[in-house]
Amino acid sequence: MREFSSEGKCREYLANLRWPGGIICPKCNCRHTCLLSNRRYQCAECRCQTSVTAGAVLHRTHMPLTQWFLAFYFVSQDKCGISAVALMSMFGMTYKTTWHMLMRIRSTMNQRDKIHQLSGTIEFDDTYFGGPTVGKKRSRETEKAKVFAAVSLDEQGNPRNIKMQVTQNIKRASVKKFAQTAFVQASTIHSDGYRNYIPAMEGYTHEQKLYDPDSGLLHWLHISAELKG
Ligand SMILES: [Zn+2]
Repeated sequence: MREFSSEGKCREYLANLRWPGGIICPKCNCRHTCLLSNRRYQCAECRCQTSVTAGAVLHRTHMPLTQWFLAFYFVSQDKCGISAVALMSMFGMTYKTTWHMLMRIRSTMNQRDKIHQLSGTIEFDDTYFGGPTVGKKRSRETEKAKVFAAVSLDEQGNPRNIKMQVTQNIKRASVKKFAQTAFVQASTIHSDGYRNYIPAMEGYTHEQKLYDPDSGLLHWLHISAELKG
């Protein structure tokens, strides 16, 4: 609330993310721009105008940036994903407005997730994902989706990023395809010794061990899989 308390602070934050070395004209790469009264930047060379939000998730928004930033915060902090109804009562806006905000945020997260690859040390396994089907027992795993799950760790061994993908099966080709899309080539993969993992991880540094729940192997992966419900 303190860091992003005004439109100016939010705009400055976005400008630093977008142009860390100062504003650059998107058309001619000129570095000489002036700020107009409508908060757009105009290039001194080609007169092209741009803004901190142009062409990105907040393109042409009429909503205050302070509210967008709050929405980003709530979406990222709520374990189950905040609803449009909850945002509506917090912001005093219509359902339609908060629903559109959430759609924009989710679609951006999805785009980012599609191109982002995990790197460094990665824990990998397959698991089941999803809650109970209405009117049926929770324990029947066949009603849940089979997923590949991976967590990348930082140098202290703490979790950084998670990637999950629904899969029809855990055959060698499917594992390999997931690894190629989800992991940077130079990564080190930790997994249990399931036979299909070994050939699928060719090209990566692969450390596979017999799974023992007390060993600490796949610690963060199992914690994140438990958060799924
Ligand atoms: Zn220009």
